[in-house]
Parts: sequence; C-alpha cells; structure tokens
Amino acid sequence: MTSKIKPQKGIMDIALYVGGASHVEGASNVLKLSSNENPMGPSDVVKEAFSRAVHSLHRYPNTDHSGLRHAIGEVWQLDPDRVICGVGSDEIIHFLCQAYVGAGDEVIFTEHGFAMYRISTLAAGGTPAEVKERERVTDVDAILAACTKKTKIVFLANPNNPTGTMIGQADLARLAEGIPPQTILVIDGAYAEYVEGYDAGLKLIEARSNVVMTRTFSKIYGLGGLRVGWGYGPREIIDVLNRIRGPFNLSTAALAAAEAAVRDTAYVAKCRADNARWRDWLATGLAEIGVPTDTSTANFILARFGSEEEANACDDHLRAEGILVRRVAGYKLPNCLRITVGDESACRRIVHAVAQFKGLRT
Ligand SMILES: *Cc1c(COP(=O)(O)O)cnc(C)c1O
Repeated sequence: MTSKIKPQKGIMDIALYVGGASHVEGASNVLKLSSNENPMGPSDVVKEAFSRAVHSLHRYPNTDHSGLRHAIGEVWQLDPDRVICGVGSDEIIHFLCQAYVGAGDEVIFTEHGFAMYRISTLAAGGTPAEVKERERVTDVDAILAACTKKTKIVFLANPNNPTGTMIGQADLARLAEGIPPQTILVIDGAYAEYVEGYDAGLKLIEARSNVVMTRTFSKIYGLGGLRVGWGYGPREIIDVLNRIRGPFNLSTAALAAAEAAVRDTAYVAKCRADNARWRDWLATGLAEIGVPTDTSTANFILARFGSEEEANACDDHLRAEGILVRRVAGYKLPNCLRITVGDESACRRIVHAVAQFKGLRT
C-alpha cells in the first residue's frame, strides 16, 4: 500500500546539500580547506562576547536584533531599519524564496551558482532556471535573455562560489536595470569583505527598489559554526521577510558575537590583507606547477586540471596526505578542485602536495 502522506511538490526533487568534508579516516593533523572558513577563526573580542552570553542562557534572545542591526548600520553606513538578520545568509535566501516564489514561478541563477539557490527555490515550489556563464564568469546578457514574465528572483553571488570570479559595478547596475519589473535581484555578498573597496551592491540598493543583498558572518568573520547572516534591501521587501522570520531565530550568544565581530573592523582588514597575500602566493605556486586558476577575489581558488580523472586523482592524493579540498563536479566543474586559502603553512603544504601529485617533488 502506498502512503497518502506526501510532501509538497518540488521537495523530493531536492538533492541533499553536501558540505565540505571535515575528517580523513585514520589521519591526524588534517588540514581542512574545503569550506572557505577563515583559518584564524574569530577575533578575541568576539570570543569574549560569546563567553559572556553564558550568564544569560536562561533568557530568551531579543526578537528585533536591534543591537546587531545598529552595529551593521554604523559600520556599513546603512539604514538599520532595513537590515534583517538570519540563521546564516542561507536563511535570508530561504525567506526570499518562501515569500516571493511559488508554483509556476522561476528563479534564475548561473550554472556554477551556489547550491542553496536551487534548494530554496524547489522548497518553495518554484522552478530553477540555470543560465550559462562565460568561461566561469557571470554573463549578464545571458541572465537578461533568460528572464521571463515568471521570473521572481535572480540570485547572483558576487564574488561567485565556487569560481571566485566577480563582475563589476557597471555590469551589476545593467543587470538591476534590465530585469523585469516583478523580479528581485539578490546580490549574495558572502565574500564581499574580501574585496577591497567593494560596496557589495549597496549603492545600487539605495538607488533602486528591486535589489537585495545577503551577507554572512561565516566567512571573513570566522563564525561559520555560529550561523549568523543578514540581508539589506528596500523597506517593503525587508518588511515582508520579517513577517515570516521566526522571532527567536538567532540566539543571544550568536547576536552578541556577531555584533562584536562587525565592530572589529581592524581584524577584518587584517584578515582581508592576509588572505589576499596568501591567495596570490597560492595561485602563483599552483600556476608554476601547471595548475591554472581564474583570478579569485574571494578566500578560495578554483584549481583547474586537465580532466575529471586528474582532478579526482589529485583529490585522492591530497586526502591521503590529510588535506581536504572541495570536489565541485556538483557545480558542473568536474575537472576542478576548490581550495580555501589557509594560513601560510597551509598554503605551503598544499602547493607541496599538489607538486608531489604532479611528480615534481618527493
Ligand atoms: C558560504 C556562502 C554563503 C554563506 O552561507 P551562511 O548560511 O551564511 O553560512 C552564502 N552564499 C555563498 C555563495 C556562500 O559561498
């Protein structure tokens, strides 16, 4: 007898999210470069803020996230009333789909786009529409050409994951200008802090009514384990999202740590500089041993190999050496491996191991 209990349409089409691996059988001293985490973790003031929360664990958190929203407003020079905080930026992505996408609606993202866009679209009953990139770079014209009367959201990570590439201000503006009137452009700025002088789409949001940004504390702030992200956009859209947000979605400890993190701008600047330095060193080191990458603006690089077989064999070798990187066949990049930029010793260790794999070192 088949069960009459059935989930909503679309849900069984969701392939479970596969996270970066975190351990290797039988290996100690494992180097995890598979999830784009900050190798330094959060700063000391953030750890202290988190520790202090232990004294108020019996109290419910505040529901309006006022402290964190105001800190974000001060640091990024934006209106705190138009900030919404979520359980990672994943939750903001989810709210956007839940609120604006239903059966028959389309959501656009690019062929190597972040996995959550598809998951949240299907969860809301919508139809994913995947658009080609041009040599692993977002193609604004292809996105505009794919828009229809049914397009509700265009998701674009800029810089993109897993390619590490990004498009410039003029292209972003052209995209926001060209999408249909019923469509929201969501600029996912998970890696925005790694790009010197990039406003993550802020000016575009202030000038228009159809652009939203999502941001996270999981990457440069080193708080992936805490699950805090935020969104910023037009008042009307943020108001809609707040109606479906659980009132207690963020814990007291998470709010306190994130507030301390966003205010510690010196730490962020240091992490940005360290990352840029070792990212360039890593890309150069790999290029010298015959492994090219695109110019990355984020905290990872996408290493290209001659074939899927070679990429997988290199991953196997790295794993045997206790180094975890990310296979990205699921992102339609079977001949590539995504490697997070670690600290100096991590970068040296991985270049050495890839050279070994190439037979250039013992
Ligand atoms: C890591 C990442 C996020 C962040 O997700 P959180 O839920 O905030 O941890 C969002 N978008 C992209 C493209 C990412 O790579």
